[in-house]
Amino acid sequence: PLNANSPAARDVRHVLHGYVELKAQRESLPTVITAGEGIYVKDENGTPYIEAASGMWCTSLGFGEEELVEAAAEQMRKLPYYHTVGYKSVNPAIDLAEKLAEMAPIKDARVYFALSGSEANDALVKFIRYYNNAVGRPQKKKFIARHNGYHGATVATTSLTGIPINHVAFDLPLPGFLHTTDPHYLHHAHAGETREAFAERLARELDEMIEKEGPDTVAAFMAEPITGAGGVIIPPEPYYEKVQEVLKKHDVLFLDDEVVNGIWRTGKLWGAETMGIAPDTMTVAKGLTSAYQPLSALILSDEIYRGMEKGSLGVGFFAHGQTYSGHPVSCAVALKVLEIIETRDIGGHVGRVSPTFARRLQKLGEHPLVGDVRCKGLIGAVEFVADKKTGRLFDPSGVVARRIKERAESAYKLITRNVPSGDSIAFSPPLIITESEIDEVFDRFEKAVNDVMGELAR
Ligand code: PLP
Repeated sequence: PLNANSPAARDVRHVLHGYVELKAQRESLPTVITAGEGIYVKDENGTPYIEAASGMWCTSLGFGEEELVEAAAEQMRKLPYYHTVGYKSVNPAIDLAEKLAEMAPIKDARVYFALSGSEANDALVKFIRYYNNAVGRPQKKKFIARHNGYHGATVATTSLTGIPINHVAFDLPLPGFLHTTDPHYLHHAHAGETREAFAERLARELDEMIEKEGPDTVAAFMAEPITGAGGVIIPPEPYYEKVQEVLKKHDVLFLDDEVVNGIWRTGKLWGAETMGIAPDTMTVAKGLTSAYQPLSALILSDEIYRGMEKGSLGVGFFAHGQTYSGHPVSCAVALKVLEIIETRDIGGHVGRVSPTFARRLQKLGEHPLVGDVRCKGLIGAVEFVADKKTGRLFDPSGVVARRIKERAESAYKLITRNVPSGDSIAFSPPLIITESEIDEVFDRFEKAVNDVMGELAR
């Protein structure tokens, strides 16, 4: 019987959760997570779970990293808060901006700080408008993103997001936000089309979309190098090569959303590096602080910044800023994350363990109901299909993946994430995961797959 005073029962009475069926939530007790260590988290009964999703793709250095706790405490004692609005600044923000400018594949980069991926992408929409107004082309306002891309939860970033369920009940997207085809070969290739031909066709479709809208009305194209939350979609070559040719031709900016991809998730420092992209801007969050503090960074090219300096529509004043922009505690934690990544060679570690991750995913690919496996570095997904031969998806989609995810969690204490790309389950474990821990993740997952497949066969 349910203890009415348990944290879970009290949660159900007062907490409004995201991504739930609101009615069902009244009867669905959450798992209350109370502690964490390494790749494990514990619930209120002390039961450990493997966190193979790094929470929301973010706790890259795992849980219980004392050096991060110490960095935050030290900064709190010294200066818990100040801001970067107007002509004020704080040392951790200065140091971090300098560091990110060095790390980013963008020359003479300029950095704006916010607290979440959504806020950074939302600010970017405003900054690009400001830029185009400043350089005398106010009509260049439209944004093109992709179906199944995820870029945030604010009004503008939900509009950039290309997942229908995020739009329908909220009267979004806003006008001027368009979406082009999701580069998921399994879902969108024509019969007999090679991966290369598919990639080239999608670039042509983008070209046609820009032509149809009018190139002088299209400001920017936003994409995650590897789509994360929308299904771990890795576009085949030469997709980005061709897309970048199209964007150059029409003077459309490439806005690289590195919120999931950035900081070694894809096996290289940036997803842009993994996928061969030369972006005009980057947005970074999640792994930047390993989620120990909220922080995001918007990294702009010098060219865009210089354009913005020209002032907007005669207003030579940049009327944008936030209470917590450059928050010293968040920036201090990010600096410590970046230091740990260097001193412990986390990039090298990802390189060493990711072949095991890839091998275990490939092995799942042999399963009779697995239609696709995708991975780079330590981000990956497995997609279940109704018919392996034809690639026919389950209808309705998502039910099987949800069942497997739930079984993995309830029976085998493994947290994964089901993503809205057919019946896909994604893995993005903390980057500190060892090879034997990767084996443990997939041993548990295979048991859940076998359980659910056994039930389906019955
Ligand atoms: N961009 C990408 C690629 C994301 O995956 C997310 C969140 O999952 C966001 C932006 C939004 O970040 P946040 O949830 O911190 O607002």
